[in-house]
Amino acid sequence: MKPWLAQNKTHFVELLKQQSLPHAMILSGVNGAGKKELATWLSNTLLCQSLNTENINNIQNFQELPCKQCKSCNLYHQHTHPDHINIELTTASIGVDQIRKVSRFFEKTAQLATNQVVVIESAESMTESAANALLKTLEEPTNNSFIILLVNDEQRLLPTIISRCRHIQLKPPTGNDLLSYLDKDNDESANQDPFLNLSHLSELNDEHINQQYINFTECFIRFLIEKNQRMQLSSAIQQNENSINWLERTTINLMRAEAKWLRSIKVDGFSDDKLLAYLQQNKEKLWQVYLLIKRYNKQRLTLVQLNNEYSLEKLLVDMWVIMNAVED
Ligand SMILES: [Zn+2]
Repeated sequence: MKPWLAQNKTHFVELLKQQSLPHAMILSGVNGAGKKELATWLSNTLLCQSLNTENINNIQNFQELPCKQCKSCNLYHQHTHPDHINIELTTASIGVDQIRKVSRFFEKTAQLATNQVVVIESAESMTESAANALLKTLEEPTNNSFIILLVNDEQRLLPTIISRCRHIQLKPPTGNDLLSYLDKDNDESANQDPFLNLSHLSELNDEHINQQYINFTECFIRFLIEKNQRMQLSSAIQQNENSINWLERTTINLMRAEAKWLRSIKVDGFSDDKLLAYLQQNKEKLWQVYLLIKRYNKQRLTLVQLNNEYSLEKLLVDMWVIMNAVED
C-alpha cells in the first residue's frame, strides 16, 4: 500500500458516511502516485456488501473497508463482479465503443451490489467521440452509479468533462518527506526510487511550453552538461521572472527522463541515448543541483535586489562545482 493514500481513503469514508460521495471523480497524478490502488480500493468498497447505511457509521477506520469476505468482495477480487467495469487502454486510444459499453451498463440496475462502479484508466486517451459519449453519461447520472477516471494529466481531458467531475489530485511525497515514509514503512514502496516521485508538482506540468522556455531549458542543460553558457544562463535568469521555476522544472524533468518517466528531452546535438547515459552517470549530482535550486528559491523570497544578484551568481557557481566534481 502507498502510505500517502491513507488520507484520501479516510476522506472517502467520511463522504460515504455523509452519503455525499460524488458520482464522477477524476483521480490525477503521475505514474506511481497510487491512482489505480485508490480506485481499486474505492470501487471494491462501493460494491462491498458490508457497506450499507445501517453500519457505515460504525466504521472507525478505512482499513475496515472493504470487508474482503462477502460475495461481492470475492467476485470483485476475481474480476467478475457484474456491477463493475474496468476500462483499460489496450490500443493507442480508448474508443467510443468502450464508452458505449459504459452507458449501456448504467442503463441497467445493479445486479448484486447496491452500487455500480466504472473505472476508466488512462482517461486522457479517450478519442474525441469517446469523450463526447462519456459526457452524455456524466450529464445524466443515475442513482448509485459511480465513475472514476484515472489520468496522469487532467489538462488533457475536455473541460466539459472536468467540470462534471470532482477532481482529486494524488501527490506522492517527495524528498525528505518520502524518505521519512520509507524509513517508517518497510513495504514494497521502500523499493521505489525517491527520484521517481519528484514529478508530482502540478505547477511544473501545467505551464504552457513556449519557445522561451524551450530555449531556456536548452541553455540550462548545456550549462549542466557542457559546463559552458554560464553568462547566457545568468542573463536569461535575470531577464525572465519565470526562470527560477524553470530551473527547478528542468532539473526535475531531467531526473524524470533519467528514471524513464519522461520519454525524452530534446536538446540539439544530443541524441536521446547520449543524454540518458549522461543523466544516469550524474544522477546524484542532479539531485544536489535540485536541492541547491530549492534552497535558492527559498532564500530568494527574503533577499533584497543586491543580494539577489550575488546569490544567483553563487547558485550558478555552486551548480558548476557540483557538475564538475570528480567521482571518487
Ligand atoms: Zn465485502
